[in-house]
Amino acid sequence: MSVSAVKTERLRINEIFHSLQGEADAVGYPTVFVRLTGCPLRCRYCDTEYAFHAGDWLSLEDILDRVHSFGAHHVCVTGGEPLAQPNCLTLLRRLCDAGFEVSLETSGALDIAAVDPRVSRVVDVKTPGSNESARNRVENFERLGARDQLKFVICSREDYDWSKAYLEEHGLAGRCRILFSPSYQQVSPTALAEWILADRLPVRFQLQLHKILWGDVPGK
Ligand code: SF4
Repeated sequence: MSVSAVKTERLRINEIFHSLQGEADAVGYPTVFVRLTGCPLRCRYCDTEYAFHAGDWLSLEDILDRVHSFGAHHVCVTGGEPLAQPNCLTLLRRLCDAGFEVSLETSGALDIAAVDPRVSRVVDVKTPGSNESARNRVENFERLGARDQLKFVICSREDYDWSKAYLEEHGLAGRCRILFSPSYQQVSPTALAEWILADRLPVRFQLQLHKILWGDVPGK
């Protein structure tokens, strides 16, 4: 195999670890997380800044071997922004081919059209509190289906009001499941729950299970 062919089969990986899925539909399932290095965004509340630059180049074969070694059925490909590395699309397909239940966590700033349809896509909608709301790629919304989820991380009452209006403006509630999550230690989870109930908003409230269990530590 030529050197260039070898390179196209590699991804820069920040960490691969085994934990409980802390968010979205597969919450609570033992899951292998494959965290890809790099992200073009800089959200104010980012809890994975350590993944912006650090990482090792691994072949797809090595990544798949590491994933298999944990013996879990669920795999979550995350970042950083995993789609910033084009070979992520091949990894997702190979994981599906291997029979894993695969989810992808993505910022919502990049095109999701080429993601394997067997993957459950968890797509962020960046609120003003993230300081990255200008990056939301509205073209992604029409691609969303029953397997997918849109996630709003709410930083304040202003963010909540913005998110409520955004749902309406883009007709999102009927497209896929909508998750509202309080930004960790920035807004009261109880307050957010009460706002949702008072407004009869058709969204799913969620807390980040891994942070309740282990706090804000990498690799969990
Ligand atoms: S998209 Fe995710 S990884 Fe990138 S800066 Fe925002 S929170 Fe951090």
